[in-house]
Amino acid sequence: MAHFPILFLLAFALLAALFRNAECDYTSCMRPGVALFVLGCVIAPPVSSATDQSPHELYDALNALRLDSASTYQLATANRIELRRGDVEIYFEEGKLAFLAPIDGRITGFVFSGRGHALAFPRDVVEKQQMAHFLGAPVLDQVFITAYVRFTDDAADDLLHQFQTAKLTPQSDTAFASLSDPFVAQLNASQSLRILENRLSQNPKPYFYAALEGVETGPFDFLFDPQRREQVLLGQRRKSGNSMYYDVWASYSVPGSIPPPVDFHALDYAIDTTVLPDNSLNATSAIHVRAETSGERVLTFQLSRALHTETVTDDQGKPLAYFQNEGMTLQERSVRGNDYLQVVLPQPSKRGQEFTIHFHYRGSVIENAGNGVLFVGARESWYPHLGDQADFASYDLTMRWPRHLKLVATGAKLDEQIAGDFRAGHWRSDKPLSISGFNLGEYASNSITTESRTIDVYANRQLEQALSNRLDSASPDLLPAIDIPLGIPGGRNRAAMHPPPPSPADALKQLGKDIDSSIRFYEGFSGPFPFRTLSVSQIPGSFGQGWPGLLYISTFSFLSPEAQNRAGLSSTRQEAFTDIVPYHEVAHQWWGNIVGWSSYRDQWIDEAIANYLALLFADSRKPSAHELRVWLERYRKQLEEKVPGSDIPAGEIGALPLGNRLNSSKSPFGFEEVIYSKGSWIIHMLREMLRQPGSKDPDARFVTLLRTLSAKYAYRALSTDDLQHEVEAIMTPAMDLEGGRSMEWFFEQWVRGTGIPRYRVEFSTHHTDKGEVVRGKLFQIGVPRSFIASVPLYANNGSGHNVYLGAVVAAGPETSFHFTTQVPPHKLVIDPQMTLLCTTSQTEKTEE
Ligand SMILES: [Zn+2]
Repeated sequence: MAHFPILFLLAFALLAALFRNAECDYTSCMRPGVALFVLGCVIAPPVSSATDQSPHELYDALNALRLDSASTYQLATANRIELRRGDVEIYFEEGKLAFLAPIDGRITGFVFSGRGHALAFPRDVVEKQQMAHFLGAPVLDQVFITAYVRFTDDAADDLLHQFQTAKLTPQSDTAFASLSDPFVAQLNASQSLRILENRLSQNPKPYFYAALEGVETGPFDFLFDPQRREQVLLGQRRKSGNSMYYDVWASYSVPGSIPPPVDFHALDYAIDTTVLPDNSLNATSAIHVRAETSGERVLTFQLSRALHTETVTDDQGKPLAYFQNEGMTLQERSVRGNDYLQVVLPQPSKRGQEFTIHFHYRGSVIENAGNGVLFVGARESWYPHLGDQADFASYDLTMRWPRHLKLVATGAKLDEQIAGDFRAGHWRSDKPLSISGFNLGEYASNSITTESRTIDVYANRQLEQALSNRLDSASPDLLPAIDIPLGIPGGRNRAAMHPPPPSPADALKQLGKDIDSSIRFYEGFSGPFPFRTLSVSQIPGSFGQGWPGLLYISTFSFLSPEAQNRAGLSSTRQEAFTDIVPYHEVAHQWWGNIVGWSSYRDQWIDEAIANYLALLFADSRKPSAHELRVWLERYRKQLEEKVPGSDIPAGEIGALPLGNRLNSSKSPFGFEEVIYSKGSWIIHMLREMLRQPGSKDPDARFVTLLRTLSAKYAYRALSTDDLQHEVEAIMTPAMDLEGGRSMEWFFEQWVRGTGIPRYRVEFSTHHTDKGEVVRGKLFQIGVPRSFIASVPLYANNGSGHNVYLGAVVAAGPETSFHFTTQVPPHKLVIDPQMTLLCTTSQTEKTEE
C-alpha cells in the first residue's frame, strides 16, 4: 500500500552513494597497522582557481583532491583536539591527521587515522528511542579509528588554531598520504557536488561531514548540514539479508535553527514522452520554474538513474551544465547511482525570476512482467521532478505509445489519436498536482459515468508471468473445499475444482461500481471528490498507489478469492486485497493528492487517514462482519507481535513520524508494520474521543475535523503539528486530560511515543444505601510512568451484558477509582468497545 515515493533529502542519497562507494576496502586500507603498498604513485596536489572554472572543471578538481603530505599532524592525547557541530562532539585523541590539498586557497577536508571518540546526545524523545534501537543506548558514545572528513565550514581554521595552541607543527608524511589516497579518491565524488553547490552559491550554507570507522559499530556517518531541514544526521549503511539499508540512528534539527528556504518552485511541467516499441522512453520536459531566493545556481531534480539525460538547455536553447550520476556507466548507476539530476544555472538566481529548463532524456523505466503486462518501474522519477509531495504544479502531458496498448495518465484527457503505429494522447491537469504518472497495458476497460464523474477501470486480460506460474503450480489441495462466501465484492466466481485461468479483466465492472460507492462514502467525510475522472488501472505485484485521478491497484485485488487462494495468499491478505487496498488508494485522492506532506515525518497522517477511511468503508458494506473491529484487532496484534528476525514487537520499532526511517536493517518492513496499523488506531482513537453517542450524527465532530483538514490544507502540506492544532480546535472537555485545551499528551504518547499500555483492574464491591459501591485499582504497564489515558470501565453481572460505569483517567502505574452501580458486578471489563489502543488482562475481584 505504499503510496508516495521515498523523497528523502539529497543528503541521504549522497550518503547512500558514499557507502556504496566505500564498501569495498575502506575498513582494511585505513586500519592502522594494515600494510598497504601503493607503488610509485605520487599525485601532485592540484593547484586551481574556482574563478574561471566551469562547474564541471570545478567538480573534477574537487574529485581530484588528494592529501597534502606536507600537512600531516601527529596528535597525542594531551593535545585534546576536538570539533563540535550541533550537540555532536568529535575528539581526535591520538594518531595522524592530514589535510586535503587546498582548492582555491581553502581546505575542504582531512583524513585521520588513530584513536578518536564521537559523542552525540539527541534531546528529542523520538531520536533517543531510535539511538537506543540501533545502538543499545540513547546516546552515541563511540571510539573510532579512522575518519574521512569534508566541509565548507571553518573546520580547518578551527583545527589549525588548536594545533597552534597545542604547539603542533605540520610534518611531511608521504607514506600516510599514499596509504590514504586510494580511498580519498573513492570517497571524494560523494561530496564534490555538495561542495560545488556551496562554491556556486552567493549565500552558501556551510556544511560538515565525517565518515567515521567506529570500533563497535563499523563505518558510520555524521552530517551537519544547514541545507537540510534536520541539520544533524547520524547513521550507517547496513546489510540485512540480500538488501542494503540506510539505518538512520538520528536526524534532527538543532534547537532554535531556522529551516532552510526553498530556493526554487516548479510552476508547470510540459512533458512530451514517446514510449517506443521496445518500451523505452524518448522524452522531453520543459519545466517552468520560479526562483524563491536570490543567489543560488543549483537546482536538484528527481530523475530515475535509468534515464540518461541527453541535453539540458535554457529558454534560448543554450546548454546548461548538469550532473547526473557523473562519471558512472549505466551498469554502475544501477548499483551505486542515485535518482537525482543537478542543473547549474549560468547566473545566480534573482528572487521572483521565472525561467524554463528544457530536458531531453531517454532510457528504460517501463518493465515487462510477462504476458503483455507492463508497468512503470520508476514510478515517481520517470520525468524530472522538482520539490516534494506538497509542491503542487500544473501539468501538460503529451504521450505517444504503441498502437496496440492502452495508456492512462493523470490529468484530464483532452484527446487521443492514431498516427501510424502509434497512438498520441494529450492530458492537462485541471487541478494542481504534486506528481504525475501513467500506466499502460493490453487493457480491457469499463466505464461508469455519473453526473459528477467518470470512473474508468483498466485491467490486463492475462495475468503477469510470475503470478500465472504460481497459479499453475498451485496444488489442488490449495483449492477451497467449500464455496467461497457470497457477497464478496469483485463479481467473484464460486470456487470450482477445475477453474479456468483467471483474468483480471473479469472484475472490471464490479470493481468500478465498488469504487464509485467508496467515493460516495468518502465524500461524506472528506468533502467532494476532487477530480472529474478517476482511472483505475492494474499493476503487477502486491502494492498499490494513489495518484491524482489515477490508481494503481494490485493484480490480487482483481482476482477472485479462489484465485487469490491458489496464488498462496493467506485469508487475511485476501481480505486486505479485496476489501481494503483498492479503497485505501481511493481515499488517497483526498489524503495525499489534495492534502500533501512535505517532511517524511508527516507522511503517516495521509496514510493513516486513507487507511482508516478504507476500514470504515469496509465496515459499512458488511455490518455483520464488523470489519472495523476485525482490522483493529489485527493491527493491535500486529503491533504486539515480534518483528521477524527481531526481538522487539512492531509497536516498539519507532514512532509514526519516523516514516520511511522505520524501514531499516532491523525492520525491513517497518513502515508497513507500523504506519498502517498504529496510524489507523490513532485516527480511530481521535474519532472515538470526538464521538457523541446517541446524537443524530455521532461522527459530526470527526467529519468536521476531516473536512477542515481537507479544505484548509488543500494543495499544501499538513504537518503533525497542524493536525494537533486542528484537533485542539475541536476537542471536547473529556479530551482535556492535562488541562489547558491541549492534546499534547495524546500526540506525545501515541504519535511521538512507542509502546502500548497494558491494563488490569482489581476491585471489590460493598452494598450501601445508594447501591453497590465498586472500589478498585487500575494498573497500567508497558508505557512510561507519565503516560495518561482515559480508560472506560464496564460492569458485567454475568449475563454477558456490559454496563458502562465510567472512564478512569489512568495516571501512572496504579490509579484508584470508585463507582456506584445498582447491580453488583461479577467482573469489570476494560474498554470492550475498543476505543483505546491497549491490551488488557483478566480483572480480579478481591474479597472485602
Ligand atoms: Zn497509502
